[in-house]
Amino acid sequence: MERMVGKTKLSVIQGDITLQETEAIVNAANTSLLGGGGVDGAIHRAGGAKILEECKEISARQGGCPTGEAVITSGGNLKAGYVIHTVGPVWSGGSRKEEELLRNAYYNSLRIAKENEVASVSFPSISTGAYRFPIDCAARIAITTVKEFIQEHSFTEIRFVLFSAGDLKVYEDALTQS
Ligand code: ADP
Repeated sequence: MERMVGKTKLSVIQGDITLQETEAIVNAANTSLLGGGGVDGAIHRAGGAKILEECKEISARQGGCPTGEAVITSGGNLKAGYVIHTVGPVWSGGSRKEEELLRNAYYNSLRIAKENEVASVSFPSISTGAYRFPIDCAARIAITTVKEFIQEHSFTEIRFVLFSAGDLKVYEDALTQS
């Protein structure tokens, strides 16, 4: 499914984010930036050691990445030239600013993309795996934050890449309702 939002194509597909040819892909990292499971593990496996080396340098310099913030590295062996590593919140019931922190993760990823003149970005479903953020709510935040940003700053494409058919449906519904 795709929609034009101003000059930007906003698309929602099912697939593997490590295979996307957008200029950047976003990683749902953790605060250590030292790799983990889920999409983080998949990106480091597919992208090779260079990405982890750059993450380690950033970590040594600034002590990891706080929740809601984002950092950028090269894409190593990936088709994407860059990986934007952002840290979504761990869901713990909704009273620990999880919604605001998830919004920040999307916003800061797009901000860092713009700062680096990246024209197209693929996002995974941040926080809805191991971090257990309820996906209906996460999808609404993801879509509305991206739509708001791209109304102000255009890209060629922003793509949401969902791993399962069920997740794809949730994001398609969120896009339809937005
Ligand atoms: P978090 O810790 O932020 O919850 P996870 O990696 O556990 O991150 O999960 C985030 C989402 O990424 C989940 O929906 C998971 O199914 C999905 N995912 C895992 N591997 C991939 C992949 N290769 N491409 C796209 N999405 C993926």
